[in-house]
Amino acid sequence: MCTQAANIREVTEAAKRTFLERPLRSRDSVFSRSAGFHSSAILHGTTVVAYAPGGDVVDIVKGNMGWIEVIVGPMFSGKSEELIRRLRRAEIGKQRVQIFKPVIDQRYSKNGIVSHSGLEIASELVQSGSDILDKVAPRTEVIGIDEAQFLGDSLVDACVKLADLGKRVIVTGLDTDFMGRPFEPMPHLLAVAEEITKLLAICMRCGNPAVHTQRLVASEELIVVGAGGMYEARCRRCFEPFLAQQKIEKENEKATNTSAHRAAP
Ligand code: ADP
Ligand code: ZN
Repeated sequence: MCTQAANIREVTEAAKRTFLERPLRSRDSVFSRSAGFHSSAILHGTTVVAYAPGGDVVDIVKGNMGWIEVIVGPMFSGKSEELIRRLRRAEIGKQRVQIFKPVIDQRYSKNGIVSHSGLEIASELVQSGSDILDKVAPRTEVIGIDEAQFLGDSLVDACVKLADLGKRVIVTGLDTDFMGRPFEPMPHLLAVAEEITKLLAICMRCGNPAVHTQRLVASEELIVVGAGGMYEARCRRCFEPFLAQQKIEKENEKATNTSAHRAAP
């Protein structure tokens, strides 16, 4: 039985054999005898892609390689700024770009990625990695994904698949959570990436390089979407991983004292 990957390999080989023998036409058809299916090939600018069954697209003539770039660091370290900078350059280079961010993060804008310094670029909302696969157009060459720590484990497979199909995938996200623990799926993404950039912010206590995201509010939920006032950047010396927990305990203590006071005759 043919797997999807085998199908793609089959159609790529069949298309290469066909197109290397004669000049390219804007729409070509390829038949793979061993896999037993027809697949169409389309000329996109200077790139020829073949459509395998299931809607996957393979760059067959240039053999363009896809890859994964990951940008990590704490909040305020400039991940969104760096993502926007790379995507703007791709757009200037006339590449087809699609940009995604999680539905959960609509802090500053619903339709765009906005950095803390006010830079903005249009984006689409998604729930998960598989949602991205559904939304990526076959002709898209560069894919940007912001706040990837909110997109779940399916993001890793989605990024690998898109890179295998010849696309440049640029992903940003928090590598650690409010307790300083690895924040999935970022560690997995780092493992499969070709290129990794780790950015640092400025510690709001002492001005040293900050690697941590300090939660300032009383909540132990893993995901609490917020910005200035709820979080700040801290260096490893000033970071207080248990601050949120201590605040909860203090609030509980206060509530118990108040109700005890009320209950007293
Ligand atoms: P991230 O995506 O990593 O949260 P952004 O790209 O949205 O970061 O924002 C980076 C910008 O945030 C900086 O250029 C700066 O203007 C601002 N900023 C606010 N607080 C800090 C801080 N503690 N350290 C560095 N930059 C900060
Ligand atoms: Zn510090």
